[in-house]
Amino acid sequence: MKWEENVRRVTPYTPGEQPKQTNIIKLNTNENPYPPAPGVAEAAAAMDVEKLRLYPAFPEQTALARLLAERYHIGTDQLFIGVGSDDVLSMAFLTFFDSNKPIFFPDITYSFYDVWADVYRIPYERKALNEAFQIRPEDYKQPNGGVIFPNPNAPTGVRMPLEQVEEIVAANRDVVVIVDEAYIDFGGTSALPLIDKYDNLLVVQTFSKSRNLAGMRIGFACGQPKLIRYLNDVKYSVNSYTMNTAALELGRAAVQDEAYFEACCKKIVATREAAEERLSALGFVFPKSCTNFIFASHKTVPAREIFEKLKENDIYVRWWDKERINNYLRITIGTDEQMEALYRALDQICG
Ligand SMILES: *Cc1c(COP(=O)(O)O)cnc(C)c1O
Repeated sequence: MKWEENVRRVTPYTPGEQPKQTNIIKLNTNENPYPPAPGVAEAAAAMDVEKLRLYPAFPEQTALARLLAERYHIGTDQLFIGVGSDDVLSMAFLTFFDSNKPIFFPDITYSFYDVWADVYRIPYERKALNEAFQIRPEDYKQPNGGVIFPNPNAPTGVRMPLEQVEEIVAANRDVVVIVDEAYIDFGGTSALPLIDKYDNLLVVQTFSKSRNLAGMRIGFACGQPKLIRYLNDVKYSVNSYTMNTAALELGRAAVQDEAYFEACCKKIVATREAAEERLSALGFVFPKSCTNFIFASHKTVPAREIFEKLKENDIYVRWWDKERINNYLRITIGTDEQMEALYRALDQICG
């Protein structure tokens, strides 16, 4: 077909499966195993549906923005709120990575980065992690069009000390450095306090993992007001009202309950630490995780085989048929009961 010559062709990102059955143990997409804060259900029940007649408020002028700004000790002019951090990151790619030089990101990382780079026609180079799956800051000191990496990294779960994050930001003052902190609440030190010092730093976080709200789609970015203004200019040139009234309201309720947030994070970290012991005993090896998942390889049984057999047992984990990582499974930390079922199945498969 002639019109196909004018199509923007891309290979889309493949998310983890969202199976229809409800009886499965779902440890494949790093969702939080616990429900949203109780206040979220109350806010949903109290929602004034009549208000949906109107366009939503500008996110930066909402209670959600005020609470987030308070929580993170920043101004609302240093905050950008979007439809999950995928939306925030996608807008940031479009806004800040408009150079002929390649942007840099790790070879093993969030598999959406190369997809955005491809769809926006941004050249990129992957920098290899070392054998311990660590980012090597020196790799990010050559001329580039921008830098992005998650900290802690996904799917490895490995964190980078804040000094090394700062080293990369400081070495790249002529481009924007994006730190994707999707898992920061489960371990690692946030780069957020560095935004006052570096006008080229954008820190991105999400409500999908540590705030138990993947289905509501809320993410945010923090940076100096100038960076946020540029981001808003592009966002308001694409689609103005992406944050809907319900998300703004339920997100507010989630941020309001700091105690619940802390208790859930603490619980997941405790379950993760127990999982490290149990998985080791079952013959797995893995780098130290600072996230809500463990990236594990079995000493004798191939990852693919474990992945398939777990699925037959209605336990879903994530496996990629990709160079360097095809003998690893990314196992999301679930509830203690879900993890016990996992260990029982693994004992059958690997024992
Ligand atoms: C989950 C995840 C995101 C995106 O999450 P949203 O649900 O879009 O907020 C971004 N980056 C990394 C590294 C993730 O793992």
